[in-house]
Amino acid sequence: MSKNIGSKDCRNCGLVDTVVIIGAQMAWEQYYAWEGEAAKHFRGMQIAQAECQYCQTRYMAWVWPSANMVWERPTFKPEWSMDDPPEKRFYDLSYRSTFNDEPGPSDIRRKQPPNPVKLLNIMAEIKTLLESAGI
Ligand SMILES: [Zn+2]
Repeated sequence: MSKNIGSKDCRNCGLVDTVVIIGAQMAWEQYYAWEGEAAKHFRGMQIAQAECQYCQTRYMAWVWPSANMVWERPTFKPEWSMDDPPEKRFYDLSYRSTFNDEPGPSDIRRKQPPNPVKLLNIMAEIKTLLESAGI
């Protein structure tokens, strides 16, 4: 289990570029009342509620790392720019209720069948791998 999903795209429906920020930016501790080591790591991190526009899966967007996270990885730069629209200014996601990469019951609001475009892309990748292996 990881705290972050490692993507800006929706894990539930598999669509690309459908997750957007829907709430105000806030400090991590304004939303999560956790104590202990995790809290030390994330305190001061800027987050915002986000949601998939297609399947309404609930996420927490990672907007800016905490000071502790920056100290641990001084070269880290969040991958968004001020040229991006405000709702796309985030660099990673967690499921909102769990703040990790496993959704809680309230995060998945609409189960989706596998996305046909994603399935076609996966099939094309498999075909390319098989061809490159001479199979
Ligand atoms: Zn989705």
